[in-house]
Amino acid sequence: MKTIVVGAGIAGLSTAWELTRRGHHVTLLEQGPIPNPLAASGDHHRIIRRAYGTDSGYGKAISEAYDAWDALWSDLGQSHYDARGFLCVSRAVGDDTDLYREGMEKGGWPIELFSADEAARRWPFLEAGSFRYAFHSPEGGALHCRRIAAGLG
Ligand SMILES: Cc1cc2nc3c(=O)[nH]c(=O)nc-3n(C[C@H](O)[C@H](O)[C@H](O)COP(=O)(O)OP(=O)(O)OC[C@H]3O[C@@H](n4cnc5c(N)ncnc54)[C@H](O)[C@@H]3O)c2cc1C
Repeated sequence: MKTIVVGAGIAGLSTAWELTRRGHHVTLLEQGPIPNPLAASGDHHRIIRRAYGTDSGYGKAISEAYDAWDALWSDLGQSHYDARGFLCVSRAVGDDTDLYREGMEKGGWPIELFSADEAARRWPFLEAGSFRYAFHSPEGGALHCRRIAAGLG
């Protein structure tokens, strides 16, 4: 199959990559350089995380995303994923951190809960009196977008 993909952001690049892996002939058109700093995915970092809330489906989809990233690192010969984990800090009842924590608990994905004092001791940039509690997920971290785009390009 001959395919033209327009736009070499992460969506176009990964589509072209997968089609090429399957033996198709791909022409990729990009209006700027690859990586293009004006693309949404042309920035330095984007977060990948499991914590998205109870009903979004993202939590489950992240397993598939990790598999795809691992396949890409294998093809590129190096990983551009900085697996630092993901820290959420709750400042008000019912905020996104409460929602994300419920989603993690419902999905059975591991998190570690910290009181504000414990969290401030572990991450000294946090100010203990300014939030309710924190949780840390060992899964998640930063994806180095430009390095990924350069590698795919
Ligand atoms: C501030 C911000 C923070 C975000 N944070 C996160 C995050 O932490 N985690 C996360 O997963 N997502 C995050 N996102 C979302 C994520 O960045 C985007 O969903 C993703 O980058 C979209 O990729 P894309 O390939 O679809 O688009 P883009 O990266 O924008 O790529 C589109 C490409 O198409 C090219 N193009 C457009 N029109 C033409 C044309 N006519 N001819 C040729 N080329 C063309 C453009 O030049 C560009 O290179 C964030 C987005 C923003 C804006």
